[in-house]
Amino acid sequence: MYDKIIDKDNPNSALKVQSALEHRPSSVNEEYVLRLKKKKERSVDEFVEGILSSDRIVLSQAITLVESSRWDHQQKAQRIIERCLPYAGKSIRVGITGVPGVGKSTTIEALGTKLTGAGHKLAVLAIDPTSEKTKGSILGDKTRMETLANDPNAFIRPSPSAGSLGGVARKTREIIILCEAAGFDIVLVETVGVGQSEVVAHSMVDFFLLLQLANAGDELQGIKRGIMEMADAISINKSELDPKRAELAARQYANALSLFPENENGWKPVVFTSSAYTGEGIEKMWNTVMEYVAQTKSNGYFYKKRNEQNLRILSETVNSALVEHFYDFPGVQEKMEKAREDILNDKVSAYVAAQRLIEEYFEGLTDKK
Ligand code: GDP
Repeated sequence: MYDKIIDKDNPNSALKVQSALEHRPSSVNEEYVLRLKKKKERSVDEFVEGILSSDRIVLSQAITLVESSRWDHQQKAQRIIERCLPYAGKSIRVGITGVPGVGKSTTIEALGTKLTGAGHKLAVLAIDPTSEKTKGSILGDKTRMETLANDPNAFIRPSPSAGSLGGVARKTREIIILCEAAGFDIVLVETVGVGQSEVVAHSMVDFFLLLQLANAGDELQGIKRGIMEMADAISINKSELDPKRAELAARQYANALSLFPENENGWKPVVFTSSAYTGEGIEKMWNTVMEYVAQTKSNGYFYKKRNEQNLRILSETVNSALVEHFYDFPGVQEKMEKAREDILNDKVSAYVAAQRLIEEYFEGLTDKK
């Protein structure tokens, strides 16, 4: 019937029946997709604007830039951070550490929902030295904090997986700045007592909480003294399992802490019991943080500590940049290799070899000018 209407042989007819198409055109307009992709690359201004207006998608994308190892991403991230700095610094930064399984996530979930319920905006970050791809991660991807993950006033971000712990530290500090500029007034930094991760976390928070379990005795022996010294509070978690034992453990920890020299800030570390399941002690946990903040703000230590942390970043950054420059300098790797050999063959002392390497590096620098 169509044959009658359609004149197949007329090339000018608008009613042509196409034979089956050999090459179907893509159902998406490639050009448009490209344009969209390009559009997605926000400018620094757009990033800053988005962050300051608490746009979580923009915040997440900015954090991705911070975490990226691409040079251009890093450049952009630094410009965003610099613009956000004047709006940062207003949160209370709390570190939480403890061995895997002690209940950090569960406690953060219990504490966090209380805090957001009280109108706070909470960012939960992590420092996980095991999160490099090959080793798997101890802290996991934090999908365990289900309530918080779906809470519009909470923002959960897993640990950056930036090779060295120094790299992770720097990125986490920068992420804190972005979160604060986005209006988060409490930042929790979670970490495990692996390697130096708790030292790194401690170097960027105002208050440091150590979670422990009640099987004191051995536990007390095993725990690194350094971690206890850093703690502003210790909480014996899972207290509902055996309240008496938990109380006993708390007393033992309090005794152990009392033997340490007094803190420069005048704060005496507090020990208490808690249960992320029943909620016992969770309020005490936050009240302790608030007491600490009030006390150290009134005696000025709060600001002194932040200033010291900032100044340490300055010297650490200079140190690591110099070290990097040295090792990347042409010829240094080969000379190092030769020096290693000579040292092992007793041809030269390690001290002399190091001095020579450094002298030659400085000479190389002046030659280059
Ligand atoms: P994390 O590895 O330190 O983050 O520990 P998790 O928060 O993942 O908790 C480890 C296990 O301990 C989980 O099975 C939790 O359900 C459990 N847990 C956490 N807090 C408590 C608590 O207060 N009481 C009891 N009985 N179990 C808890």
